[in-house]
Amino acid sequence: MDIFSFIKSNVNILDVTKQYANLKKTGLYWKGHCPFHHEKTASFTVSPHRDIFYCFGCSSGGDVITFMSKVEQCSAIDAVKLLADRYNIDLPEDSHIPSIGSADEKDRYFQLCALVNKWCCEQLQKSPLAKEYLDSRTITHESITYFGIGFFPSGLSSVQSLIRYAQKNNVLADDLLKANILGQAKRVLYSPFEGRIIFPIKDHLGRFCGFGGRVFKPEDNRAKYYNSKENTYFTKGQLLFGFDLAKQSIQKSESVFLVEGYTDCIAMYQHD
Ligand code: ZN
Repeated sequence: MDIFSFIKSNVNILDVTKQYANLKKTGLYWKGHCPFHHEKTASFTVSPHRDIFYCFGCSSGGDVITFMSKVEQCSAIDAVKLLADRYNIDLPEDSHIPSIGSADEKDRYFQLCALVNKWCCEQLQKSPLAKEYLDSRTITHESITYFGIGFFPSGLSSVQSLIRYAQKNNVLADDLLKANILGQAKRVLYSPFEGRIIFPIKDHLGRFCGFGGRVFKPEDNRAKYYNSKENTYFTKGQLLFGFDLAKQSIQKSESVFLVEGYTDCIAMYQHD
């Protein structure tokens, strides 16, 4: 069985499409507003018994993989990987995913960044000072969760805490060094992100690629921002903060606003 058939037999198209459209049962199929075009009457249909979707408004249709690659704006292979990931499906050992190349290394890097982000989010909740700062910038609790904003506390103990957290999740301090989350001083490890509010930068598929760290204490004289160093998987000029979250409404409304900073983007979201 090829990888596409394998995924199709393991995921339910209704379950997947329901995550993007509000669907109601009408007879044999389900109906709702199309996630691919703006419409007043519901013309998007899903037929679970035939494993397909079809929109009578914009004529888009196909199987669950077509749906995912269209809705997430990615290749069919990436759609397979996304579905496997979302539903905890182990792809068969002998499944030949074309152009897998260093895919393992790439996935590991994204997982490492996701892990660091999770830790930073937890640290933010423990820091009244950092929370107070975000509050003063009128960044709501909902936005903090939505954008995954975190905080990297200062000091050796915080670096050690991150290392322990990473190790529990099978990530080594050496991996954190290679990803430039940590740096090596003469005797100790430190992080350039220490004492900074952390804005995670994700690609269009929502994979964590890097971070922007902003100073916020009045006495902090360092550069206002420190961004992750560029690497194979993180090219600043190719990524837009918030794009993964906005792409579906961009597609629907066919309009987009570009703003300069992380907080500008968050402000636009809050005033929607
Ligand atoms: Zn449509």
